[in-house]
Amino acid sequence: MINDDKLHEECGVFGVFCNDPEQDAAPLVYYGLFSLQHRGQESAGIATVKDKVIEMRKGMGLVGDIFDPETLSQIKGPAAVGHVRYSTVGSSNLENAQPFVSRFKLGSIAVAHNGTLTNADVVRELLEDAGIGFTSSSDSEVIVNLIAKNYKKGLEKAFTDTIQFIKGSYALVILTDDALVGARDPNGIRPLCLGRLGGEQAGGWILSSESCAIEAAGGVFVRDIDPGEVVIINHDQVFSFSFSEKTRRAVCSFEYIYFARPDSVIDGIDVYSSRIRAGEILGMESAVAADLVIGVPDSGIPAAIGYGRATGTPFGMGIVKNKYIGRTFIAPGQSVRERAVFLKHFVIRSEVNGKRIVLIDDSIVRGTTSRRLVSLLKGAGAKEVHIRICCPPVRFPCYFGIDTPHRKDLISNASSADEVCKSLGADSLTFITVNGLLESLMPAAAADSGFCLGCFTGEYPIPVQYTHSPA
Ligand code: AMP
Repeated sequence: MINDDKLHEECGVFGVFCNDPEQDAAPLVYYGLFSLQHRGQESAGIATVKDKVIEMRKGMGLVGDIFDPETLSQIKGPAAVGHVRYSTVGSSNLENAQPFVSRFKLGSIAVAHNGTLTNADVVRELLEDAGIGFTSSSDSEVIVNLIAKNYKKGLEKAFTDTIQFIKGSYALVILTDDALVGARDPNGIRPLCLGRLGGEQAGGWILSSESCAIEAAGGVFVRDIDPGEVVIINHDQVFSFSFSEKTRRAVCSFEYIYFARPDSVIDGIDVYSSRIRAGEILGMESAVAADLVIGVPDSGIPAAIGYGRATGTPFGMGIVKNKYIGRTFIAPGQSVRERAVFLKHFVIRSEVNGKRIVLIDDSIVRGTTSRRLVSLLKGAGAKEVHIRICCPPVRFPCYFGIDTPHRKDLISNASSADEVCKSLGADSLTFITVNGLLESLMPAAAADSGFCLGCFTGEYPIPVQYTHSPA
């Protein structure tokens, strides 16, 4: 049961199984996590297994700050899983950092989870009633304890039983005494893919949230894990099975719009190309006479290129992002915080002065970014600022793993596009239509595609129960 309409998890998972028992998997997981850093910057962890003993290191902060060569050398073994996590400040602590490790009579497991369980409270209560203790407030620990409880039935059955019991979104990468396991929820809301290690190494397998990280670890992309599929990798074989009835594929559309790295390919759809197409479609749906189109870095840039191509508007770099500011920038004190919004982006006056500008961003959530950028652009002499947004208005929270604010804080929740436009100080504002978004995601070839559009439509692929009104 969900007791808050603001959920905070955004994560990346990565796992490696090396065929050579003398090879260490942790450095490869480190490279993988480094490449998934955009999926979570607050904590990171790596668990390895050697001679049936699981070792783990985790900490708060960025992957590069937590792990150095010495730390990595302390966690040895040919198989490993890792996790990067993003959460809001309140629930950000080391207890909730992943992977979660459980050591019990029959063995040990380490679990890395991306997603959000919608029945975690119920399962937790059942487990607690059975005398099983928890060390964190994370819903992911429920998975570890359920697997541990079912372990005596054998690995395959333990996973199937666990996965059939939990509800919500999950891309799971799990390490056991002698296997690496991956699983994706029956709707495939969060991405997970399989890669192969080869070349100079003795070979092995990789599981990753995104394809971009497979290459970074020296592997090659093999395929996406199907919704409702479990993959078990051990020394003897790689085998997979489906644990659910055929369900509707509902990949999170926000993965393509904002979250994923542009060089990733998720379920056969190239993220960068989908962003270019979104810009082209915006250009076809709502072109406006202008002298320059600019994109809000980073994900607005490919869309601005696409908009420029479709409308013939010249593309330029009118806005630059401060490279040294993290997504979780913390400003000391309120007055400084207000200044801080002006530190994140800066405008190139010579590029925008005296021009009619089309400003493209991936999304408007609270409206903070767009309002600030309109003010910066007008302050730098822009004659007009027309905002074009690559997703429909975000009116509903996400319950499946993207950090969205309370519904009342979503600027489009209770306001029309015209009202939002006025409040941002822009000259016009349009959002891509739901059909336009689907068209950008779904080139004709991807016939089996389906997407979660819950934050735009309020229709979720899995029923969501509230303990209080979501309004
Ligand atoms: P806002 O400023 O609240 O309207 O949020 C929209 C801006 O934040 C856009 O520039 C997006 O690129 C970015 N954004 C969208 N979704 C998220 C998210 N889940 N976490 C952090 N930033 C986001």
